[in-house]
Parts: sequence; structure tokens; C-alpha cells
Amino acid sequence: MPAKSMEDLVSLCKRRGFIFQSADIYGGLKGVYDYGPLGVELKNNIKASWWRSMVYERDDIEGLDAAVIGHQKIFQYSGHADTFSDPLVDCKDCKARMRADHMKDPTKCDNCGSTNITEPRAFNMMFKTNIGPVEDASSIGYLRPETAQHIFVNFKNVVDSTARKIPFGIAQAGKMFRNEIVARNFVFRVREFEAMEMEFFVPPGDDETWHEYWLEERLKWWEEQGVPRAKIHVLDVPKDDLAHYSKRTFDLEYEFPHGRDELEGIANRTDYDLGNHSKAQSELNITAKVHENKDSNAKLAVQNPETKEWIVPFVVEPAAGVERAFIAIMNEAYAEEDLGDGKSRTVLKLKPHLSPIKAAVIPLAKNKEELVNRAKEIKQTLQKLGLGRILFENSGNVGKAYRRHDEVGTPLCITVDFDGLEDDTVTIRNRDTMEQERVAVSELPNILIKTIQG
Ligand code: ATP
Repeated sequence: MPAKSMEDLVSLCKRRGFIFQSADIYGGLKGVYDYGPLGVELKNNIKASWWRSMVYERDDIEGLDAAVIGHQKIFQYSGHADTFSDPLVDCKDCKARMRADHMKDPTKCDNCGSTNITEPRAFNMMFKTNIGPVEDASSIGYLRPETAQHIFVNFKNVVDSTARKIPFGIAQAGKMFRNEIVARNFVFRVREFEAMEMEFFVPPGDDETWHEYWLEERLKWWEEQGVPRAKIHVLDVPKDDLAHYSKRTFDLEYEFPHGRDELEGIANRTDYDLGNHSKAQSELNITAKVHENKDSNAKLAVQNPETKEWIVPFVVEPAAGVERAFIAIMNEAYAEEDLGDGKSRTVLKLKPHLSPIKAAVIPLAKNKEELVNRAKEIKQTLQKLGLGRILFENSGNVGKAYRRHDEVGTPLCITVDFDGLEDDTVTIRNRDTMEQERVAVSELPNILIKTIQG
């Protein structure tokens, strides 16, 4: 049962330390958020799960972690300097700013209803900065608005260093920045966020088959993270709405608490990007309409081993936002359960590989040294398994600890009591069933591994 509203999620995120408004002691920085003790774990687990499925479990994708700050030429040749803009409208009466394509009625201000509004003008969403001490045109750089461009400009480096042949992919997860006109819906639309992007390079002509393939793969992945297919609507983006580089895009739209909206985009970017960043463009039979590149020193193409002909691969790109994944995963995991007798609990039924805390080890009483020491020992042993964070929880109130761990999605609570000191046992409580079971301490590693890895 998903959350009833975005407010449920926002309140849980703040109360339990998942997400905080950035700079909130100074009134907050709009559209920028900080991840707290549990948020950083969930976010890292989401990215790790994506990385596992893209890089470790396959043998045709390499990883990359490129710079966040970008050379101006990258975004000049990618087209972002000219075209990465949204239409901005100002209300002359109440001074509200809106995105023209998001307005309820394009002739009226969303905020005050006035018709005294400006014509839409293009607003470039890249954050511009200067690199080095001199502020002039030659020192301009941009915080990357997508991670993809750094994958394209590293194409030759990766091919030369790994001897990869197409089809193969390059995956990257990391920060990106967009100066959104209106940041809203919690972390759904923010100005600094992370994306998980993979560029899959294929022979021209095979692109449509690979595009369909990646759509299926991504739907499977979302299901494994607890976001069922039935909740995702696949939009075949109409031709007129496609981004400048795209031949066809599937948007995966999820039923967010604020309404149906984009979770991930899977685009066929053709040979547009490699074509734009390549030297010797006229020798390469590029099909996309590209700008003449007089600055690149690399041929971003591969050679057909038989015909020796140079080919610019086509690119299929699944690109998902970590923040949007965070909301969708939390929303699906959220449940309020009636326990009878007027009691209820909030529980996050996260898939265990995503849970911020994998297990909490709790001494039954907080000031009993033998219990505390045994609990600490167990924590250290389980921590060494490398499955994620194991928490030693010394609050002294086991009932309250169970409730708190239900709310943050901890799959197992392990309680150390006096009987257990005698016979080397502990009690394990299961988050979903709330059942408690006495088990031998020696069994704990296996139980935990089975719970987390399935
Ligand atoms: P939108 O139409 O919602 O602005 P987009 O089509 O511009 O998104 P893409 O360029 O395809 O988005 O970016 C890839 C992914 O990055 C999106 O599917 C989304 O999950 C995420 N994303 C994009 N913009 C934002 C943002 N401002 N805040 C958080 N996540 C974002």
C-alpha cells in the first residue's frame, strides 16, 4: 500500500533522517536537498543495485566516473549551449515565474490568475561557472546537465583501453545539475541530483531491436526494486516532444503521489552524439544532422573488421534519476498497518538489499555490560559480512526500537537477552511478519545473507 500523499513521505523522510532541506537553518535553498544518515544508505544501495545489474552481472558494459565540471566545448558540440532550455513566463502582477509548458492555462498566471504575463522566452538550464582565476569567455565551464556527454567524449579512451567491440555499453552514475525554472514535488524536480545513465553502442540498423531490449530489461530491474510493472506506464514519446537528439524515446512513467510522471527515459540517440564530438565527420557517413566539429582530436568511430569501413555506432540510453527512484521505491514500500486494539504501525517494506540498515542488534537492557558486550560482538561479526550497515542499538527499549526499525525498513532486529548468554542464542524479529524466533548465534550470518541476498 503506497503512501497516501507526498506529505506522508516528506514527513517520514525528515523525522527519520532520510532527507533534509538543504541549508534549512538559513531558510532553505530551493530545489536542493541533503541526504541524512538513512538517506545516504538508501541512495547508495539504489545506485549499487543499478551498478550490479549493469556492470557486474553482465559482460558487455564498462563503468566510468567522469568529472562533474565540464569543458565548454563538450556542451557546445552536444547542443546543450544552444538548445538546453525551457520556456519561461513571468507574471507582471505577482512576479511568479512558471514554465510555459507546465501552465494549467497558458494565458493565465498559475499563481494569481492574472493575464498580465510575458511571452515565453528560452531559459538555459545549465549552471555556468568560470574555471581558474580569470573570468572571461575562454574560462567558461558548465556543471554537467547530464552524465551522458562525458561518456561520449571518453568513448575512444574506453575502447582503446578495453578493446571492446560493439555492441557494448558504458555506465555512469553521478551528480548532475539543472537550473530548473520551478523546482517542486519534494525531490522529484530538483536542481542538483544524481542520474544512473548507460550508453549502449550498437551497429546502426540494430538500434531498434536493442531499444526494445533495454525497455524490457529496465522494467525487470524496477520490479526487482519493488516498483511493479503494473505501476509503470510506458509512454512512446510523440515525435513532436522528442529531445533534439532522439529518434524514439520510451518514458517510464510512474504513479507518483503527485500524479503520473517520468521516472526514467530510454532513448535512441542514434549517432548524434558521437557524430557531433568526432573529428573527420565527412569520412564517417553520419546519419544525424550534426554541427561541423573543428576542435575534436579523436575519431569517435569503430572499424568494421572485414570491410575496414569506419562506423559511428548508434546509441541506446536508459537514463534514470536516483531521486525519482528514491521516491518511487519508498512510496511502494510504505504501509500503514492496523494491528488491532486501536494500534497501528508504519512500516517500510523495502526490498532488503535496499534497506538502509540491514539488521539492528539490541541488548534487552542498556546498562547490563554482558548484554551490551555480546550485542557489540555480534554487530562486529555481522558487519564483516559486507552486506551493508549493521546497527548496534542501545536504547534500552526493545518495543520502541522495533517500531522505529519498522519505519525505516530494517528487515531484522536481533535481541540479546540473559537466557541467550547462557546458551548462545538470540531472538530474531522479522519486519514483515513481526514474528520472533530464537536462533543460535552461529546461525546469524547465514540467516542475514539469505535475507539480504534472497
Ligand atoms: P523532465 O521532463 O521531467 O524534466 P527529462 O526528460 O528532462 O525530465 P532526462 O533528460 O531524460 O529528463 O533525464 C533523465 C532522468 O533524470 C529523468 O528520467 C529523471 O528521472 C531524472 N531527472 C531529470 N530532471 C530531474 C530533476 N530536475 N530532478 C530530479 N530528477 C530529474
